[in-house]
Amino acid sequence: MLDIIACITLDHNAALVALAAGMCVVGAWISFRLFQRARDTEGWMRGGWLFLNGMATGSSIWCTHFIAMLAYETQTAVYFNATLTILSLFLAIVGSALGFALACSGLFRLAPEAGGVVIGAAVACMHYIGMAGYRVDGLIHWNQNYVIASVIASLVFSALALNRFMRPTTRWCRYGATTALVLGIVLLHFTGMTAMTVTPLRPLFSPNVDQFSALALAVAGVGALVIGMGVVTALLDLKTRATADADLQRLSEFDPLTGLGNRSLFSRRLEEECLWADSHDGRLCLVLVNLDDFRTVNDLRGHSAGDALLAALGARVGNGLRAGEVAMRIGGDEFAVMRRLSASEKVDEFLERLDTLFRRPLKASGMVMPCASGMGVAIYPDHGLSASDLLANAGLALARAKDETLERTCFSNSVVDQAERHRRELAVALRGAVERGELCLFFQPQMDLATGEFSGAEALARWTHPDYGSVSPAVFIPIAEENGQIIPIGDWVLEQSCRQAVTWAKPVKVAVNLSAIQLRQRGLPERIGEILRETGLDPARLEIEVTESSFMADLDLSLQILREIQALGVSVALDDFGTGYSALASLRVYPFNRIKLDRGFTSDLAVSDEARAIVHSVLMLGQSLGTPVLAEGVETDEQLAFLRAAGCRSIQGFLYSRPVPAGDLQRLMLAPPAPGLLGSARRIVSARLPQAANG
Ligand code: C2E
Ligand code: CA
Ligand code: CA
Repeated sequence: MLDIIACITLDHNAALVALAAGMCVVGAWISFRLFQRARDTEGWMRGGWLFLNGMATGSSIWCTHFIAMLAYETQTAVYFNATLTILSLFLAIVGSALGFALACSGLFRLAPEAGGVVIGAAVACMHYIGMAGYRVDGLIHWNQNYVIASVIASLVFSALALNRFMRPTTRWCRYGATTALVLGIVLLHFTGMTAMTVTPLRPLFSPNVDQFSALALAVAGVGALVIGMGVVTALLDLKTRATADADLQRLSEFDPLTGLGNRSLFSRRLEEECLWADSHDGRLCLVLVNLDDFRTVNDLRGHSAGDALLAALGARVGNGLRAGEVAMRIGGDEFAVMRRLSASEKVDEFLERLDTLFRRPLKASGMVMPCASGMGVAIYPDHGLSASDLLANAGLALARAKDETLERTCFSNSVVDQAERHRRELAVALRGAVERGELCLFFQPQMDLATGEFSGAEALARWTHPDYGSVSPAVFIPIAEENGQIIPIGDWVLEQSCRQAVTWAKPVKVAVNLSAIQLRQRGLPERIGEILRETGLDPARLEIEVTESSFMADLDLSLQILREIQALGVSVALDDFGTGYSALASLRVYPFNRIKLDRGFTSDLAVSDEARAIVHSVLMLGQSLGTPVLAEGVETDEQLAFLRAAGCRSIQGFLYSRPVPAGDLQRLMLAPPAPGLLGSARRIVSARLPQAANG
């Protein structure tokens, strides 16, 4: 080792050695870059890259060798044999091309390492054939051990280089591979040079300057070629990558159906346009558009008709816009249009144009289709000081426009939209409410009028949020229905109701409300069966309450599910009877076990002859169908008296009890039967439950 260091430091010109090393590093780096391109391609393309790869690697090895040879200082005249010098270059090029080709051939498991060995052998051949062309005016003695060591170093390090490059374990392996190849070349060269001793025959008078300059010129030429090749491929690489990135970016922000931008472009543009407005003292008009009944088009005429409608609309909108305006499709049937505005510019003309673009009937799929839509408008910065606020406010305005039948274009209005905003906040807060234990159940007792006894209780969900306080189920159940959270909530209510009913002092029924969404859940009957088994509640003690609107949404499926639930031995009550469109028809489509007369009729009993007539006929209808009727919302003795006289079987309402927590229910259940006299029921309850919670 000391010999090698001595050879480098004493026998070589340091500056040229550094240049040789630099050439070697650049060459190795370019080689692997080209090799990567060869690996990424196949067929003749790979052949092409391997050819370039061989040229670059071979030339840079050759250059390194000859710059180092120029650095070698001898005390005798030196000549180079041109044929052997050129042959050494040729061998280096062909050998490294073959080595890299083998390495990426996948011919056998160790092909990468074998390829490395071939490259190492090419380096060694290049060196020693080059040295065979090195003629001095003296005697050359070779130390065989160093020669062997140099060849081994070249083979091992080249194999290691390819191994690291093709089987990387970390991202640093690329650099490791380059380093190993450089080491292989450099070690071979300087160990090889250490192996050689020159004994001059005649003292040096003047070196062969012509030959040396020719060699230096050749080396410089080849070196420049290699570096040029590296720079060009790197530039080409960057350019191709940039073009590919731009293509990808364009594709990822483009909706192929309508030819408009997509949601991802929209988000980016919205931010950019708000920045534009800030920096130009301007404003931005954002319009969100949602098509009406697009689902119906899909359902009735098929998805291809829906697609054709969107495509035609996209084309019409795209063509109808002017400079400074841009439209994007940001959802299935949702579009967004933006327009830059000056500080005082009005939006009337723009909105009128959008009105014709988005609302004129369209011809698509050979049919003329109506094209109604709601539009929500928000202007930056008047209706929101950030892109996200602006979007949220345009969304709220759109929600209002969708609900309206007359005013189909709505402007953001913070006061009006406050309720909707609160609703959306609640929707977010409701997520995970079950898991956080924010829900609990209250129970409202039902009384059998014949015996005056407690005959069952309806489970009513209660939600207490740390910030929003207690939220009525009349508010949060519809929200939960909208966003699907009703499924976990409904499941929890069912399970808890059954679990608690098992512990009751009296084996009476527990009534549980089911929502429309639950009634379309095919696995619901099995789930109810499972809950009954797990909790051990007798199925006859469970009653589920459904409203007319909840099963009308998907009549066949809902009735099928109801039948399966009833087959478990669970009873089914028709809730809020009289409030739907076709209360009587509901009774015909399904054999309900009980009818719950809506509390609206009860409350009107005192004031409306009509209500009294309806309650009478419902009770008679129940009698003739053999379906017991329970009157909801009984608040006064007068109402109770009327219902009793009309033949009503049971009641539920504040008169008997408000909904109460589970603990209070137990005590209420054990209270002696109400004497059946008007007013006495209330006295009993209020005597026992002075703290009864509000419904
Ligand atoms: P609902 O099923 O008609 O429940 C009866 C509602 O009337 C309860 O309101 C109850 O507190 C109230 N109420 C009872 N007696 C009287 C009375 O004498 N006078 C008046 N003015 N009101 C009375 P709540 O608890 O606020 O529930 C409202 C609605 O929320 C329920 O109406 C039901 O549709 C829904 N709901 C409650 N809990 C659940 C649940 O667990 N699941 C589902 N799907 N819906 C539920
Ligand atoms: Ca109910
Ligand atoms: Ca009801």
